Amino acid sequence: MLGELLDGAPRDVDLYAEAVVVGSGAGGATCARWLAAGGRRVVVVEEGPPPTPGRDTLDALSRLYRDAGASTTLSREPMPLLQGRCVGGTTVVNGAIQVPLPRDVWAGWPEPFQRLAPWERLEAARARMEEELSVRPTPSALWGGGALMGRALADARPIHRNAPGCVGHGRCYMGCPEGGKASADRALLPRAMDDGALVVARCRVAQVRITGGRARGVLGRFESGARLRVEAPLVVLAAGAVHTPWLLRRSGVRGQGRGFMAHPGAGVAGLFPEPLPQGGTQTWEYLAERARGWKLETMQSVGAFKAVKVPGVGARLAERLARLDAVAMWGVACRAEATGRVWPGPVVRYSPTRRDRQVLLEGVSRAAEAMLEAGAVEVWPGVHGAPAVITTRDEARALATVAPERGVVPMVATHLFGGTRVGPRFEVAGIRGLVAADASIFPSNTGVNPMNSITAMATVVAEAWS
Ligand SMILES: Cc1cc2nc3c(=O)[nH]c(=O)nc-3n(C[C@H](O)[C@H](O)[C@H](O)COP(=O)(O)OP(=O)(O)OC[C@H]3O[C@@H](n4cnc5c(N)ncnc54)[C@H](O)[C@@H]3O)c2cc1C
Ligand code: SF4
Repeated sequence: MLGELLDGAPRDVDLYAEAVVVGSGAGGATCARWLAAGGRRVVVVEEGPPPTPGRDTLDALSRLYRDAGASTTLSREPMPLLQGRCVGGTTVVNGAIQVPLPRDVWAGWPEPFQRLAPWERLEAARARMEEELSVRPTPSALWGGGALMGRALADARPIHRNAPGCVGHGRCYMGCPEGGKASADRALLPRAMDDGALVVARCRVAQVRITGGRARGVLGRFESGARLRVEAPLVVLAAGAVHTPWLLRRSGVRGQGRGFMAHPGAGVAGLFPEPLPQGGTQTWEYLAERARGWKLETMQSVGAFKAVKVPGVGARLAERLARLDAVAMWGVACRAEATGRVWPGPVVRYSPTRRDRQVLLEGVSRAAEAMLEAGAVEVWPGVHGAPAVITTRDEARALATVAPERGVVPMVATHLFGGTRVGPRFEVAGIRGLVAADASIFPSNTGVNPMNSITAMATVVAEAWS
């Protein structure tokens, strides 16, 4: 039965493996890839279905995202937490941006974690994964409207992406219709299956079996109601920063779920005089202010994605909506200092601090100013307490001085970290054979898009068990 995809099951299934990996996203698929290459009999268990690209935004949300994209934090300032739920995990719906872990971020990690993941090992793993995922700078033919960022910000650069077959549809968040992204389902799991791994889809792992201080395997339930039992001496948890801590709690492992972190993000839209050329979803970025806690990236997608930013009412609104092909969107991502906690449910309690909002406003302000410099006739910053439409650089600069009160900018979190504490060999709570290998083990957020760092880290985890 090994070396296949088992897409659900009508009856109970019992399996034996040398390693069972829970979750098939960035961390899980990478770990499975290298454990299988090392000769281990691997079973990967994924809650979601094999991915099929969404026909439109709603279809994509319901097929590929957890809770159809409706998960939010529990807070007086709730924000959506977007997570993939399909074979390939969040890599199926991500923008394919690849940014290496900055060395200064690693240098800020606690010394025991640095020993667990030494810089040189992470760097070697990064190079290996970048080859594996065909990471390359976006070619100019795919820049589309993203190239406007380069006009205004001298330090902006084309994004490095894991999208070797990209033809520039701008639909990455809905699952690529061309198979153009080297997402985990296309680039990693097939290779793991070639090396004998079995991928089990539509099955939610409910519990890790632990007896005598040692992991013994997992128990899960298929969508059909049938049960899955996998016996394995090595259990690798890679269910993401919300679900790995939650699964640990449900399995009776205490002390997990603290230290949840994120990069809350906001979008700034600008109306340009002419329609913008079509291109890849995310093609240019600006990292020069990373030390101040924010980065910018261009985002091109379908009209519905831009329409939510359009201000106004009546004829003016209709006029703007008719010109969505001339609207550019730029994202601002903040390396927030806030930490939260994953509670039973799972429920994520998380609130950005005043400083986090201030940092985000600074990024929004710079993005707005740069858009005007790039030729926008109107910018729609979406900041409460500022004009809905701005047209001058002074107005753009003033955005940074808006009081950073709760709710000042609508935020979304797509980069989630922390919540699981690991010890030597990435084992959790000293339980032998119980390992975590996803974004939940990071001791801090990274300030850059995390997939590159997660796949490098998961490679180091796999090496520790090969
Ligand atoms: C819209 C969007 C755009 C993004 N763009 C980028 C980008 O361009 N570049 C970048 O670096 N990052 C991007 N990210 C973030 C990045 O994709 C994630 O940080 C990364 O995939 C997280 O890896 P992970 O292994 O921790 O979890 P995931 O990739 O989320 O994988 C976890 C998997 O575990 C499964 N699972 C959970 N619970 C269970 C269970 N109990 N049983 C079985 N399976 C379970 C889930 O269904 C999921 O498939 C983006 C995220 C989003 C939402
Ligand atoms: S921009 Fe379009 S073609 Fe390119 S990877 Fe994304 S969805 Fe696929």
